[in-house]
Amino acid sequence: MIREHYEQVKSSLHGAVLCVVTKRRTDEEVMSYYEEGERIFAENRAQDLIRRASALPDDISWQFIGHLQKNKVRSILPVVSCIQSLDSIALAEIIEKEAARINKTVDVLAEFHLASEDENKTGLNPDEAFAFFDEVMKLEHLNLCGIMAMGPHTDDEQRVRDVFLQGKKLFDALQERYGKDRITTLSMGMSSDYKTALSCGSTMVRIGTYLFE
Ligand SMILES: *Cc1c(COP(=O)(O)O)cnc(C)c1O
Repeated sequence: MIREHYEQVKSSLHGAVLCVVTKRRTDEEVMSYYEEGERIFAENRAQDLIRRASALPDDISWQFIGHLQKNKVRSILPVVSCIQSLDSIALAEIIEKEAARINKTVDVLAEFHLASEDENKTGLNPDEAFAFFDEVMKLEHLNLCGIMAMGPHTDDEQRVRDVFLQGKKLFDALQERYGKDRITTLSMGMSSDYKTALSCGSTMVRIGTYLFE
């Protein structure tokens, strides 16, 4: 672990949640954060999440943050706490079916594509947010509790801020419509832009590189 970077991140959180992104790290590297008390970790590939979950302690809350293929839903569901990258009704319906089968309720976040300049990114269009939430909230084994978004790939801090403020605006609108008790999580901010995301109201940052390098 990089203690100086970890302390920087911790002191910036002000109540927001740290999600440690463990992709491509060794189990030993991941455990160094577990030993500091971190319990929320994320992987972006199904196989990696499954292997890691079986190798590491049971009290870790595993987050899935990558593009989820429909044929991987069954294998990750028993070990995942939250799927942060829900981006279609079809995927939601498959998760519902598999979750019902194993009698589990799983947290999910809807992933939005806010940075219009980054083209080949997945995610929902903000215009379809209410319609999407209305549909997914009908599914009994999904607990749709917020949104995930990525900042744009640019050094232009003002542009990054504009995108995160769009995310915050969407989050506020969803809280207004569905209630603050149901809509709790605004997952925005990574190594390069977590401070900006936090200043725009992010409630969860997903950080990998900065914590390990
Ligand atoms: C890799 C990844 C992160 C973490 O990125 P870093 O730049 O390593 O902090 C956050 N969110 C998602 C969706 C990722 O794939």
